[in-house]
Amino acid sequence: MESTMNVKLDEPEPSGKIVDFSNTQIAFSFKTDSELKRTVFLFKMMNSPFLVKVFSFLALWAIKLRLPFTEYLIKQTIFKQFVGGDTLLQCQKTIDLLYDFDTLTILDYGAEGKSDEDDLDQVMFENMRAIEMAASNNSVPVISTKITGLVRNEILEKKHAGIVLNQHETELFEHLIERVDRICSKAAEHGVGVFIDAEESWIQDPIDEITMDMMEKYNNEKVIVYNTYQMYQKAKLDQLKRDHTYAKTNGFMLGAKLVRGAYMEKENKRAQQMGYPSPIHETKQNTDDHYDEGIQYCLEHYEEISLCNASHNLLSNLKMARYIVENELDKSHSHLNFCQLYGMSDNITFNLAHEGFTVAKYVPYGPVKEVIPYLIRRAQENSSVTGETSRELTLLHKEMERRKI
Ligand SMILES: Cc1cc2nc3c(=O)[nH]c(=O)nc-3n(C[C@H](O)[C@H](O)[C@H](O)COP(=O)(O)OP(=O)(O)OC[C@H]3O[C@@H](n4cnc5c(N)ncnc54)[C@H](O)[C@@H]3O)c2cc1C
Repeated sequence: MESTMNVKLDEPEPSGKIVDFSNTQIAFSFKTDSELKRTVFLFKMMNSPFLVKVFSFLALWAIKLRLPFTEYLIKQTIFKQFVGGDTLLQCQKTIDLLYDFDTLTILDYGAEGKSDEDDLDQVMFENMRAIEMAASNNSVPVISTKITGLVRNEILEKKHAGIVLNQHETELFEHLIERVDRICSKAAEHGVGVFIDAEESWIQDPIDEITMDMMEKYNNEKVIVYNTYQMYQKAKLDQLKRDHTYAKTNGFMLGAKLVRGAYMEKENKRAQQMGYPSPIHETKQNTDDHYDEGIQYCLEHYEEISLCNASHNLLSNLKMARYIVENELDKSHSHLNFCQLYGMSDNITFNLAHEGFTVAKYVPYGPVKEVIPYLIRRAQENSSVTGETSRELTLLHKEMERRKI
């Protein structure tokens, strides 16, 4: 199959228009004028790294100290932008609205860093409720889960480091496997997919092992379980290929969600402090090259790998769209998926949807205190270190001008 992945964004489209990510009318048509203005205000605030730092610090403390109005303030601003609601039921409106614009929803309960066994069970039950809701909604094909919401972090850290667990810790690890298995078994029963998020590299090996075991058990007739490959890690492209070979040899299909990776600074800092080579690529270009090579690999084997291209990068999305069109693949094939986070890169999501590609928004939900770490990550991702206007803000301004508001 001829490679189409070396295209440049500014090259003329060889086969006519594939997708126009600069169309802000389509990108923001689901927002009223006042919603658009509110979004502009929010992204302006987030554009300042200083304000983001202050917000992150204050929000964490205010929630801990249960200061009055904190929840209300967060809910009216950043929560509304990036979160579907407090509960599953409250997400229904968001799910329906997205579906009106041909966009699917991936439900993501925002719990992370739990340690109490009862709390961990509750996260499992919440994931199972989300699966039931997905089963009754054509517009929700997948739910997402985080292993750190289902077991104590230190158990994963010890497992990853090869430290022998004592009897109690072994039991806790077995409980984790039971929880993941109950989630995946319920998902298989209902034909709903499960994305398992990737986390810090020093806890990732046991996550990968459990996820591969679940894929082997449940990905026989269709892909139910997906692992996440952080392509900012030097070793991930080889791992993706190895996992694919293993799956093929053992008669199951691979579910692969590709992301660049969310913990770069933390990873580099830890590596430096502890004196080991950072697992992260030295340059952004290397991350981009490996990301696109990973996408290309999955596309070339799309009958055996169900792919989710989880990115806000224009070029990585355009390259995949172009590959699908030029190779005359079915845009609605269940293995050819695009996904962006709710509240971000609407120009990518809704323009892809408009052109008939299969695209979803990751919609996190949960009480404010649970989703605060997620919201802080989103605010940091949208703040501009160089002082330039963020890509979201540039598009929002363009749409304001177009609407003359
Ligand atoms: C649907 C969805 C699900 C996600 N799930 C996960 C998940 O499970 N686990 C997870 O970790 N993240 C997850 N993410 C977050 C994702 O990793 C970040 O959104 C992503 O890193 C931003 O990259 P981008 O592809 O949008 O493109 P860009 O904005 O082009 O790339 C930014 C990324 O490139 C990398 N990078 C930047 N500078 C350098 C450098 N100097 N050297 C090397 N690399 C560099 C970093 O990863 C940085 O985040 C998810 C994102 C989406 C959209």
